[in-house]
Amino acid sequence: MRITVVGGGVIGLLTAIECVRAPGVDQVDLVDAGPIPSPLATSNDRLRVVRALHRNDFALTTAAAGAHTAWLDVERLLGARFYHPTGALTAVSAENASAELATLTAVGAKAWALSPQDVAAWYPRVHFPEGTAAVLEATAGVVLADHALVAMAHWLGEQPQVRLHPHREVVSVTAVDGAGVVRYADGGTLTSDRVVVAAGPWSRELLAGSVGSDLTLYRQSVLSYRPPTCRRNWAEMPVVLGLGPVGDAWFMPIVPQSDAPMRLSAASACRPVDEMTDRGTPDQWRHHLIELFSHVIQSFDPAGIVGATDGYYLSERTRGGPLLASYGSGTVWAFAACGGMSFKFAPQIARAIADRAVGAAPRPTGLESIDRPRQLAAVGEE
Ligand SMILES: Cc1cc2nc3c(=O)[nH]c(=O)nc-3n(C[C@H](O)[C@H](O)[C@H](O)COP(=O)(O)OP(=O)(O)OC[C@H]3O[C@@H](n4cnc5c(N)ncnc54)[C@H](O)[C@@H]3O)c2cc1C
Repeated sequence: MRITVVGGGVIGLLTAIECVRAPGVDQVDLVDAGPIPSPLATSNDRLRVVRALHRNDFALTTAAAGAHTAWLDVERLLGARFYHPTGALTAVSAENASAELATLTAVGAKAWALSPQDVAAWYPRVHFPEGTAAVLEATAGVVLADHALVAMAHWLGEQPQVRLHPHREVVSVTAVDGAGVVRYADGGTLTSDRVVVAAGPWSRELLAGSVGSDLTLYRQSVLSYRPPTCRRNWAEMPVVLGLGPVGDAWFMPIVPQSDAPMRLSAASACRPVDEMTDRGTPDQWRHHLIELFSHVIQSFDPAGIVGATDGYYLSERTRGGPLLASYGSGTVWAFAACGGMSFKFAPQIARAIADRAVGAAPRPTGLESIDRPRQLAAVGEE
């Protein structure tokens, strides 16, 4: 079997790796419009969070409980170090702390509940609203995302059955007589038994049928912050979530093994947009985050902001998460919507996509929208 993967972000790279490891696959072609990995990929950022706890959401927490181990497995396979289990601290109300802890321990995560007094004493540099407790997950951390993508591309480049095709923009993917046909912008084509489309926020343009109208494009602003003082203290922190007046702000700490600055953002800095334009952060959103974090980080100093960037992702409209779809009777598999947390789930998602593409029995992922892929009408059949 010959499989083509379009898109060299975290999903495409890990899906290609899974396909290489699947029995019966003779050749895997990985195509990207840019270099592999591409600096434009949503995944190609400095840090991405891996954590299990999603407050009041048992299903998502259960699914995410496998992410920590899955990333350790990826590191082992590639022989590279890019996942740093810094832990994750989620602020919760004191009355919910024991229920959230029970959820986490039930799904096998290692975690502790911290009282409001513990939180205030252990994390004096963060401002938690009066009376806030927290849950500290040890089986959580951050992936040095750019390093991880390089390690994946390197591993693939060493496999004899893999062909990497950087700088090849794909303009259409069709199923023709049981084969998948990828058409390049320069008019060339690549035909294989199966095609996987993992084109991140660009996937709408490549998809058959009307799925595009079921997807919402989001744009999120993130500040890069180097604390002007006490930098070492910030390097001993976990990822912290559930901050700010409505509990939607988060930051990624300094990771001692990296020169990446802290990353600060909030769900309120994420908004639906019509199209992808630039990556610069408009002043309005930069000011919004500065104002928010001046109440979250003690002695927050705007002079420590060393950058601000915007990123994009697509979400399925009704459930608000990722979406796997297929057309051409399973010839083409498309990760149509990556959603805002597919990096941490990427090893599980890649397994689910690869199992389907190679025709193996799908291993459980815990991700409902992945486990029940949507069938699309073939091009022209709508
Ligand atoms: C600001 C921000 C913060 C986030 N934080 C987290 C987090 O902490 N944890 C988490 O789990 N998730 C997080 N996410 C979500 C996560 O980053 C994405 O879900 C994930 O990276 C998507 O990966 P992907 O491989 O699907 O897409 P991408 O990484 O975007 O890769 C798509 C690839 O397809 C290529 N491509 C596109 N079109 C074509 C074409 N026509 N021809 C050829 N190649 C093409 C692109 O060049 C690119 O390399 C965050 C997202 C944003 C925006």
